[in-house]
Amino acid sequence: MSEGLRFACTGCGKCCSGHHVPLTLAESHQWARDGGQVVVLIEGFLADGPGMPPEQRDHVLRRSLAVPCGNAQLHVSVTFAAFNPGRCRHLDADNLCGIYATRPLVCRIYPAEINPHLPLRPDAKDCPPEAWQQGPQLIVGNRPADPHLAALIDASRQADRDDIAAKVAVCQRLGMTTSALKGNGFTAWLPDMQAFLTALESRQQAPAAAWSVHLEDSDLTQDLQQHGLLTTAQAPVYYAFIGF
Ligand code: SF4
Ligand code: SF4
Repeated sequence: MSEGLRFACTGCGKCCSGHHVPLTLAESHQWARDGGQVVVLIEGFLADGPGMPPEQRDHVLRRSLAVPCGNAQLHVSVTFAAFNPGRCRHLDADNLCGIYATRPLVCRIYPAEINPHLPLRPDAKDCPPEAWQQGPQLIVGNRPADPHLAALIDASRQADRDDIAAKVAVCQRLGMTTSALKGNGFTAWLPDMQAFLTALESRQQAPAAAWSVHLEDSDLTQDLQQHGLLTTAQAPVYYAFIGF
């Protein structure tokens, strides 16, 4: 994060349009119950192998779950996010949040970063220039100056760790078991929301699943196959591959 940055939200509402908002498991449940659409984004890596960013090892391992993939274990990270290709369904005509008091954690944290390895870059955010020229200092000593914001970020990181097993179980119940390689892209799924709710509320053990990795690069495919991973290059039918 960037020491010395000042910030105060102008209420422009830009961050509420065209962004999929990552949700905790509980928030996903609420979003689905309220009739919202969730997009599921999946990426995976090998512990100390392809896809693992060594400098982020502890962070990415703690928010992932090992699943069987070919003859190896793939660590998958699953994001459930509010599907907002345009304006968020809760953004009203005055650019105000209709669920402000109960809005998701990520909405409370923006524009601060949740990943401790990502520096806060104003030019990568939607906030207008004047937002960075007013208000109190945002970052002190690599931590948010506001202890309330720091607590929200900690809560979001902890939810990622606490929720990953349940998210993977939902994926397995719905057959969403093709991952992308971390750093190479995501697989993106738009589940039927009634089926999603049923999978989320199920108390039965998720069925065993054989995971695979979607790749469109022949060198990467060869590398991952040599590590024992099951790969696929088939044109996806039930998901989209968002490559970097
Ligand atoms: S829930 Fe509210 S704060 Fe979050 S993106 Fe939607 S309108 Fe914006
Ligand atoms: S884009 Fe930035 S300034 Fe605009 S509403 Fe969102 S947080 Fe506030």
